[in-house]
Amino acid sequence: LRMKMAERERFAAIGEMASVLAHEIRNPLGSIKGFAQYLKEQNTDDRRQGTDFLDIIVSESKRLEALTEDLLMYAKPVEVKCEDFDVLDLINEVVKSMQSHKNVDITVSVHEGIKIKSDSTKLKQILMNILQNAIDAESKVIDIKADFMNNKIAILISDDGCGMSREVRENAFKPFFTTKTKGTGLGLAIVDKLTKAIGGEVEIKSEHQKGTVFKIVIPKNLI
Ligand code: ADP
Ligand code: MG
Repeated sequence: LRMKMAERERFAAIGEMASVLAHEIRNPLGSIKGFAQYLKEQNTDDRRQGTDFLDIIVSESKRLEALTEDLLMYAKPVEVKCEDFDVLDLINEVVKSMQSHKNVDITVSVHEGIKIKSDSTKLKQILMNILQNAIDAESKVIDIKADFMNNKIAILISDDGCGMSREVRENAFKPFFTTKTKGTGLGLAIVDKLTKAIGGEVEIKSEHQKGTVFKIVIPKNLI
């Protein structure tokens, strides 16, 4: 009987996830289909309008692509790799890859020579998701700090964006929880999963209208 309960709960959870997903997929797919159909049927030469519709088709397709990428990242089992790398080099690399967002100033206060043995790809993904959220929160300045803490490394990412209410903060790591019209709600669920996979912990301090600090603590030597 116990097994049956657990199984029933699992099916209920899968059902809930499937219905969230179905909605996430149906909306962009609906507009792609609608605009494509319209473009096919119209016989006017209104190029400008046609271009607007094509832009929507492209951007909605990108949204679906991002959703499927997040889903795969969230669903697939994590395979942890371990290599030596310098934390400052990694942070600089991540910051450089996010630099296309021009309205934000990302400052890095990290010593040289913080060498660790961990999974650099996972840590990069973690930082990218956190930085993307800080950018989405309309931050002007994002500051990244990192330092040794005993046999661990603490990384602090502070932003001066919109901050979170208590309710948002308490739900932020839940898969599919989002306050954004075009969010997947998977970014922080992935952060949580990957941080745990590399033996670490993640914590949020946030105040509505003031800003947010993410603290990641990971072991210096994964193995
Ligand atoms: P998404 O970005 O798709 O909404 P996430 O899992 O990345 O999903 O984030 C979940 C929610 O947590 C966001 O919708 C937002 O409300 C909140 N959040 C995350 N990071 C920040 C931040 N730096 N500042 C304000 N709110 C944030
Ligand atoms: Mg996000």
